[in-house]
Amino acid sequence: MTAQTPSPRLNLVGADRAQVAAVLADIDPRPYRIEQVYHWVTRRLVASIEDMSNLSKPLRAALSERAMIQDPGIVETVHAPDGTLKLALVHRDGSVVEAVVMPMEGHVTVCLSVQTGCAVGCVFCVTGALGPGRNLTGAEIFGQYRAILRSTGLAGQPLNLVFMGMGEPLLNLEGLERALELLADTVSPRRITVSTSGIVPGLRRLAALPRRPNLAVSLNATTQAQRARLMPAAARWPLDELLDALHAYPLERGRRITVEYVLLAGINDSPDDARRLPVLLRGLPVKVNLIPLNPDPQFLPGLQAPDEERINAFAATLAAAHMNVTVRWSKGREVAAACGQLRGRLVPTPG
Ligand code: SF4
Repeated sequence: MTAQTPSPRLNLVGADRAQVAAVLADIDPRPYRIEQVYHWVTRRLVASIEDMSNLSKPLRAALSERAMIQDPGIVETVHAPDGTLKLALVHRDGSVVEAVVMPMEGHVTVCLSVQTGCAVGCVFCVTGALGPGRNLTGAEIFGQYRAILRSTGLAGQPLNLVFMGMGEPLLNLEGLERALELLADTVSPRRITVSTSGIVPGLRRLAALPRRPNLAVSLNATTQAQRARLMPAAARWPLDELLDALHAYPLERGRRITVEYVLLAGINDSPDDARRLPVLLRGLPVKVNLIPLNPDPQFLPGLQAPDEERINAFAATLAAAHMNVTVRWSKGREVAAACGQLRGRLVPTPG
């Protein structure tokens, strides 16, 4: 007689209602019970089945035999003097990703990762320098959110979420869409922003979602040749095609697309660039975020931020062209808070 292998327990983080119903089938299949268990995970963000306090002890015990709650573990937390919190999280397969919690005026913004690396290879980005990684599942992305909210005590507070950490969200649409579904119980899509390097097919798919998040596009160039140098994989879609997709992106009344422009000294910060940018964006409801590079001699050798005078001149040219423009210094510069920097320090680079 061979011993039967026990079936693996279902991780309730990321499970849909049908999966919750399946684990409850022989212990308590009532619809309200399924909703209760589902909401303990998606709304109350509990860390364990033991914390589901309106379930009887025997039911929690039976459920624990069939299911579990597992989020990524937080392996490093770094505080910056400006209040930014940078976290490194490890997933079950050992991959490390990062997330950032940024206090802003009147609210907190949480930045999540969608991949364990990035194949787009933007020359100004440490994650790009670290190379490609795997897609995170929707459950893993949602798990980051759950783990962060619990560890920071932010659960229940209004916050904004940005998909602006490691990876390109529109190259992981499956994970992104599932994470958006799981987040729908606690965060309004108006408080969620997806930031893309400009993956046009992904933009079209995002545009078709019934509950669309806000959109940010990392542009960083005013000519196709410059974009191909700075963002090689994203430049596969020509600038014209990207702008067409942005014009077609459905926006609710009063909403704007955020255009991010990382300023690199001597590369994309010229007066000509500043004059071309408003021409390119003409007719689009946008706000432009100018982001002076967060330099990193180890991972981004040879790249510098422009000096303040040049940054201000660039911003002034945009403002004179009636553009809504802000200069956003990378939060938590002192603690490697630019995308990929903490992970880059924790995980040795191959080769
Ligand atoms: S900026 Fe975004 S898209 Fe570009 S390499 Fe970094 S993570 Fe990837």
